[in-house]
Amino acid sequence: MGEFEFIEKIKKASLEAADLPEGALGIGDDCAVIPQERDMETLVSTDMLMEGVHFRLEWMDAESLGWKSAAVNISDIAAMGGKPAGIFLAASLPSSLDEKWRMEFMNGFLKLCSEYDVPLLGGDTTSSPDRLCISVTVLGKCPKGHSIKRSGAKPGDLICVSGPLGDSGTGLKLLQESSLTGRAYSSGSDEDYLVHKHFRPIPKVKEGMALAAEGGAHAMMDISDGVASDLRHILKASGVGARVYPERLPMSEQMKRVCAARAWDPVELALCGGEDYQLLYTLSPLERDRLAPEDFVIGEIIPGEGILWDGGNPDKEYMGYRHF
Ligand code: ADP
Ligand code: MG
Repeated sequence: MGEFEFIEKIKKASLEAADLPEGALGIGDDCAVIPQERDMETLVSTDMLMEGVHFRLEWMDAESLGWKSAAVNISDIAAMGGKPAGIFLAASLPSSLDEKWRMEFMNGFLKLCSEYDVPLLGGDTTSSPDRLCISVTVLGKCPKGHSIKRSGAKPGDLICVSGPLGDSGTGLKLLQESSLTGRAYSSGSDEDYLVHKHFRPIPKVKEGMALAAEGGAHAMMDISDGVASDLRHILKASGVGARVYPERLPMSEQMKRVCAARAWDPVELALCGGEDYQLLYTLSPLERDRLAPEDFVIGEIIPGEGILWDGGNPDKEYMGYRHF
């Protein structure tokens, strides 16, 4: 299958996955054309996934990699409270990845796009001498002035997360461990659940849009590196500090059981594991009734800088930043 045949297949599959917006032009010309809407602002984000850095082909199936490539990008739109409007995919493919692999990758990518009704509007395809590299650009929109930045947190705000933390990081740790020991997983197990969470993150689009509505979140981002690191971005951008209660971090039962069985520290994985793609946001305490049932308050914004850990194990390195 040559490059143009591959693009033809992508074009056909993308039109089946999600409709183009009215008046738009997608794959097939020199540029995509996207009609502008009045009173809306456009959000744009690009993310790259590099073999050996972000994923290992020997661990991850093609469909999951396609899914994740789209999901982590759409999550950036969710993190601003926007609605994803279109996506672009650039791939450098080594010849070792055959037609079957490529089509499975596209299936996963377009499955996620179809679920969120995001049209694939274009991209680029090249060969790669060695490693696979994927670059995705996503467009989103929201009413003018309504996107939620990292810079809006205020002292007194509640610090909230949209769901359990550490599933993905624990899944990754299991993969790393299995590659060392050769241990396989039984299907339907806690281990499978966590590896699946690592492979198939769910971007929190609806939740982000709800939080961007009037009187919603003051500051927001998605959790890609882990709360311990990501929260610092909000604190820095907003010029504030935080008190965080490690004992209040939401964790799945599956994750807690797997950590208990292996003597892994669940709090460390929840704080530093990363790739959960939950939303991390701050909210006025007066807006507490906006919290969805699966949302958790893990701390509050205070004047100053850095994170004050309230509880948890003070000997742990992730608790090392005590700026007070
Ligand atoms: P050009 O020479 O103008 O760069 P290409 O042959 O690279 O054109 O691409 C032709 C069309 O196919 C363009 O609309 C481009 O956006 C689209 N396209 C190419 N590769 C991909 C891809 N991997 N995914 C989606 N669209 C693609
Ligand atoms: Mg091109």
